[in-house]
This record gives sequence, structure tokens and C-alpha cells, in this order.
Amino acid sequence: MKEEKSEKIACHVCQKMIPKAAALHAEGQDYVLHFCDTSCLDYWKNPEKRKKEET
Ligand SMILES: [Zn+2]
Repeated sequence: MKEEKSEKIACHVCQKMIPKAAALHAEGQDYVLHFCDTSCLDYWKNPEKRKKEET
């Protein structure tokens, strides 16, 4: 767990750098996406909502 603690990844939605150990995940067949919090995860899960917020 030591290595994961210092590793940082970018949130898939907002690109904020976050510790990988603290990130939320969405796993597909061949990929894993990372999110800084549930609002970014929801944002990615709901394309319709995304359109509204991008204006
Ligand atoms: Zn984010």
C-alpha cells in the first residue's frame, strides 16, 4: 500500500490531480477511470446532465 499512497492520477472529468488511493473508480472491460469525488463520477455517468453543465 505504500506505493499507492504517493501515486497520483488525474480525475477523468476535471483533471485535478488526486492520490490514486483516494480516487473513485469506474471499471470497463479494458480500462479503469479515476474520479476525484462522486460529483465527477456522476457527471461522467450522465451525459445528459453533462450537456447542461457545459454551457
Ligand atoms: Zn474530478
